[in-house]
Amino acid sequence: MPSARELMDLTRKAIASLLRAVSLQEQVTLICQEIERIAPDIIAFILRADEQGALRPLAGSGLSARQIQALEGLAIDSLYGIADDALAVGTEDAAQPGLHDLGVSHGAKRFWAAPVRSGDGRVLAMLAIQPQQTATLTALHRRLIDTCLPLCALALEREESRTRIDRLAFYDELTGLPNRRLLQVRAEQAIARAQRDRSPLAVLVIDLDRFKRINHALGQPGGDELLRLVARRLEEGRRFCDIVAHLSADEFALVVPYCDAEQAAASARCLLAALSRPCRIADVPLGLSACLGISLFPGDGQDIDTLIHRADMAMQRAKACGLGRFCFFSEELKRSAVELSLEEALRVAIERNQLRLHYQPQVYFKDGRLRGVEALARWHHPQLGDISPARFVVLAEQCGLIDELGRWVLHEACRQLADWRHRGLAIPAISVNLSPSNFHDADLPATIARTLAQHGIRPAELMLEITESVLMDTNPSFLKILREVHAQGVLLSMDDFGTGFSSLSHLHRLPVQELKLDRSFVFDLEHDGASRTLSDAVLHLGESLRLSVVAEGVETEAQRRILVQLGYQVGQGYLFSAPLPPAELEAWLAARPGQAKRLADALIPD
Ligand code: C2E
Ligand code: CA
Ligand code: CA
Repeated sequence: MPSARELMDLTRKAIASLLRAVSLQEQVTLICQEIERIAPDIIAFILRADEQGALRPLAGSGLSARQIQALEGLAIDSLYGIADDALAVGTEDAAQPGLHDLGVSHGAKRFWAAPVRSGDGRVLAMLAIQPQQTATLTALHRRLIDTCLPLCALALEREESRTRIDRLAFYDELTGLPNRRLLQVRAEQAIARAQRDRSPLAVLVIDLDRFKRINHALGQPGGDELLRLVARRLEEGRRFCDIVAHLSADEFALVVPYCDAEQAAASARCLLAALSRPCRIADVPLGLSACLGISLFPGDGQDIDTLIHRADMAMQRAKACGLGRFCFFSEELKRSAVELSLEEALRVAIERNQLRLHYQPQVYFKDGRLRGVEALARWHHPQLGDISPARFVVLAEQCGLIDELGRWVLHEACRQLADWRHRGLAIPAISVNLSPSNFHDADLPATIARTLAQHGIRPAELMLEITESVLMDTNPSFLKILREVHAQGVLLSMDDFGTGFSSLSHLHRLPVQELKLDRSFVFDLEHDGASRTLSDAVLHLGESLRLSVVAEGVETEAQRRILVQLGYQVGQGYLFSAPLPPAELEAWLAARPGQAKRLADALIPD
């Protein structure tokens, strides 16, 4: 009989090994060794049930190869019922209820196995012992089994929960593929190896074509099934060292070691062909296709994040070319990467109200009275610093943010004007720049009406500046929207006027009330006769069409004098003030004696 002390010792050692976080194998081997140390007449071993419930030897060195072979793969449930010449099953031990002892014999030698159960009653493994001398179980053996079963259960359960946590943390539940995190870990190892062996490595990003539409048509269960099918097809063609992962919704990645550009192109073709094999999802025949982007280590990046990002950009480029395409990352794409991240930053800046408006006064030459202010958008990027509106307005146009930008500027300008008025600062009118493409938005008239009403601003106090390029706009809805806006009583100004004279003849078609002489003419006024002639012509054109004319970019006293001589009445430029943040504009106003009173005069009477 083992002494209580010996059993305590065994327990202590087993628990210490658990706490040391040694591997499961080491923990259960230690238990077997301890059993054999305390009872040298038996061999102990542990058989673990795999996911399918089949037994696999886990620990114990005393079994012969033949014995292992006889047990390997046996269904754990069948142990309770088998009675052939290799294995015979004993009966449940009635003397020890709760301990389902099994008597199993192999040839002449019998061995006994007891199930190791988890807390919720599942059989995780079998702890088996085989007495070397007797053919029966002694009380010592029973006590040893009794002591060791919960220790084995503890070790196995802990391993199970570690695996479950790993699965949740590192595998995508839907497809069973490694997720982005595991991909990162494994890919970094593969990159380190590639660096050491000076071998190439390719990263492929795969994105299904029209997945949203397919998903919508099939419903989510169908979409899920489709993603699992794609995962299987990607797995089919993979070599042992390749890493396949599921990045997000319909985006997958492959890291392919020992793969140069030529092999990557061949792999891409194979993969796209495999994915486009016909399939049936939810009994619907489907033609699948995907686009693929490739980046190469070391040329396109040294770390997996960069490589995935660049393969992704190449994939986007492939998408732009059509369905079922692939594309390599290139230098040209690298340059557009800066624009891409800028685009995202601009989206965020508009959303989070991080843009600002500066205001530049427009003044009457005669007495310096304020006629109104022009709102000019400003963007301070957290890393890149100030980005000029010329750049981000174009960017907004290219990436579909122009409507958001226009709405934001309108709102903010009107809010500011209302705030000034509320605080007794009478700013007569406000000018807001809109892009020609803002006039393709059918909601624009309603947006303007709503914004004005919300801030209690009358339509004639808002001037919308549009550039001369709108004269070329052939979109029929453009004129319709422009007229709708005008019909509300909002004023329109033709900005940068004079730079596109060819379209002058169309000017009368547009309901504009103001021309803004482009600042390039003002700049040359002192030295260039042609600029003076042109400025003169613009003023006369404006007068003949009963439009007011504003000179922009007035920087010097000399320019002002010439403009006054030509008959200009209103100017805007650094000579008076640069565009200013609201508080500085207030200070500028306060510094002009008599301004407040004159401002009150300038307000449009009801
Ligand atoms: P713009 O409408 O012609 O605006 C006048 C530009 O001239 C402004 O440049 C202003 O800072 C600058 N400026 C003012 N006075 C002087 C001067 O005396 N000398 C010189 N050399 N320049 C002067 P900014 O602010 O860089 O704006 C550039 C352009 O970006 C604007 O030209 C306008 O077309 C566009 N923009 C600005 N804000 C917005 C906006 O909110 N929406 C839209 N769609 N476009 C905007
Ligand atoms: Ca302007
Ligand atoms: Ca201008």
